[in-house]
Amino acid sequence: MTANGADLWPLTPAAVEVPSGEEAVSGEPAETLESLRERAMQCRKCPHLAASRHQVVFGIGNPEAELMFVGEAPGADEDLRGEPFVGRAGELLTRIIGTMGFSRQDVYIANVLKCRPDMPPGTPGNRPPTPAEMETCLPYLRRQIELIRPQVMVALGATAMRGLFGTSEPMRGLRGQWHEFDGIPVMATFHPSYLLRNQALTEKRKVWEDMLLVLERLNRPISERQRNYFMAK
Ligand code: URA
Repeated sequence: MTANGADLWPLTPAAVEVPSGEEAVSGEPAETLESLRERAMQCRKCPHLAASRHQVVFGIGNPEAELMFVGEAPGADEDLRGEPFVGRAGELLTRIIGTMGFSRQDVYIANVLKCRPDMPPGTPGNRPPTPAEMETCLPYLRRQIELIRPQVMVALGATAMRGLFGTSEPMRGLRGQWHEFDGIPVMATFHPSYLLRNQALTEKRKVWEDMLLVLERLNRPISERQRNYFMAK
């Protein structure tokens, strides 16, 4: 069995289309998500990341989303595509979103860091962003959140929690709990990469229980089938 999203999560998500993007409001001086994106595209606040990146990975989805997912930073796949969560972890996240009854176009997906953390030349893999990199980039995410005003956010993993809240607590003390960022409730859960590494039913169930709390907070109907995913038989 390969550890990709299709093997790990039950529902086939709706076909994922890339949204056409948000309309800029012409003649409107107020900042829009699109003008913020354009500003981020030019960013050189971290010269080492500006030099190594292929693209700035700003974020994608519904600019009026009720639900927003926040990860840590783009990896190699995302850096090439310019879109967050499109690699193996992204495939799993897309299935989690589908199992919740949403599509990627319904929600908004972004990272704390908008550029891929650089790696020594020839080194495969990705590295987590440093606290300093996340602090430098956080104003972009903060502004995205202000413009989207989601009802609920999901922070994916300890690094995203650190970027948002400055906490270095491990996930076991954070997940399954509501936190608050700028007045918006934030559910902390494991990063999908963790589920790719640890495929125990108990860990999938923990993430799913966190998502059930999110659905309840959004007043979304929950089917019996959804309630029972990943319950030990
Ligand atoms: N992991 C993240 O945190 N973000 C991505 O966009 C991809 C993988």
